[in-house]
Amino acid sequence: MRSLALVVHRSFRKFEACADWLTGAAGPVFVLLCLFLVGVGVWTFFSTMFPYLAPFPPTLAKLVKTRSPIHIILGLLPALAQHPWLALRWVLALSGCAFIVYSIGYHYMMAVREPPGSVLDGLSDELGERRLGPGSEHWWQRHRRRAARESVVALRRRQHKSLQNEPPLPLAPPRATPAATTIAARVVSTVVDDDEADEAAESDDLFTIAKMCHKCPRVALWRALASLPPELREVERRLRSVKKVEQQQSHQHQRKSANGNGHHSPVDGWGQDQDTVQSARGETEDDIRAWLGDEADNLVPPPKPERTHHCSVCETCVLKFDHHCPWLNQCVGLGNERYFLLFMAWLSLGCFVVVCSGFPVVRQSISFGRWEYRYTPRVFVLLTYALCAIMGFALAVMSTWQALIIAWGETSVENSDNTHYREVCRRKNVAFTNVYDVGFLHNLELYFNVGAQSRHGYLSILAPWRIEPYSDGWHWAKTMGMGLAGRHEGISPDDELTDDEEQAQEDR
Ligand SMILES: [Zn+2]
Ligand SMILES: [Zn+2]
Repeated sequence: MRSLALVVHRSFRKFEACADWLTGAAGPVFVLLCLFLVGVGVWTFFSTMFPYLAPFPPTLAKLVKTRSPIHIILGLLPALAQHPWLALRWVLALSGCAFIVYSIGYHYMMAVREPPGSVLDGLSDELGERRLGPGSEHWWQRHRRRAARESVVALRRRQHKSLQNEPPLPLAPPRATPAATTIAARVVSTVVDDDEADEAAESDDLFTIAKMCHKCPRVALWRALASLPPELREVERRLRSVKKVEQQQSHQHQRKSANGNGHHSPVDGWGQDQDTVQSARGETEDDIRAWLGDEADNLVPPPKPERTHHCSVCETCVLKFDHHCPWLNQCVGLGNERYFLLFMAWLSLGCFVVVCSGFPVVRQSISFGRWEYRYTPRVFVLLTYALCAIMGFALAVMSTWQALIIAWGETSVENSDNTHYREVCRRKNVAFTNVYDVGFLHNLELYFNVGAQSRHGYLSILAPWRIEPYSDGWHWAKTMGMGLAGRHEGISPDDELTDDEEQAQEDR
């Protein structure tokens, strides 16, 4: 599967490079050409191939041919009664095909229009998915709690696995037995109670790791801090106030040694700060500016949360960056990844329907017999069929591969990174575990934001609706108990690849 996906991916990239050149050279002409091809495809399918899928009831066809509204209205019910199953099949097939066409269009539009997620602006203004201003704390807490629950489930699975793999001790100490059996009994349970979730949410494993992007344009310090989640901003604030107290102390110490009197305890300043830290949550831009003082407008590189990558085409950092897609003319990231995958899946299903139902028409079009479709030229049928067969196969491979790496808890970039990390770990002879992998099904549930902990049901995957991502771009479900908090097992910070190294790997 991996090598097949790689071949398809490479061919796509070559094709994309040509398309890029063409869009650069032809611009609107290329867009018009695409619209023309889609239009030709839809018209050809419904006018020639669809009747093979579900023939129009002959009695109804006769009625329509009279072209008299009164005849049609009066004769509709008797005509339907003559061929009820044929009519039902026709209606169902038509609604099914119309739904597929609509879903393809909807998911493409969403993938193009929905922002992939920016570090400074969050995900989307529409749902207030921002980390700024009063009330931001509330929805962020919900994401963290969900991540914690998934982590506990993943932890149980890990413990169960290690218990199974360990050879049984001949003389086990009596104390170890009850603990082991409790864990083994609990492993089947995916229900996590609130106390457990709270405990997990407070642990170091879920702590957010933030770096800075030196490739992005610099921003004002207050803006960079305003985009941090509350708990990280709190850390920054504490550090700054400690620094301030230390500076004051050293000044006073200098004065004291000069005057020989005066006493100040470092705890005084820290105590006052602890009180004010509590009010740091839900603070506004003005509050942040106030505690930063003169430094508020200093320019700094913007923060870069984990799973964020810098896109060299868009020249910005994208949350949970997957890849830059020329077909969408933007990146695929946290905000639009769901629509991108569903677009590929629906389009390959559409192509599959065309390939299955279109064969008799194709055979007719290449024969020298009579051509019964007055408004559809033979070349339209051949073009549509050939395009659907090639695109359908390529898209099916690509979407299956994409779904697989999602189920492994990876993005496209992380997949190539993790392949490298596995190799590094193999050389060091240590085990590698992807910290974001919380189990095959759980990863998929998180990706689509469905399942027990979400307010969306499984059926919402099929619905053309806007569904917000499970994460805010900072807080992620992680496998707990991995030693180094929040990092892949087996990989030290020095082994981690930089954006440039990732790019070099991609190009290889
Ligand atoms: Zn950047
Ligand atoms: Zn991009």
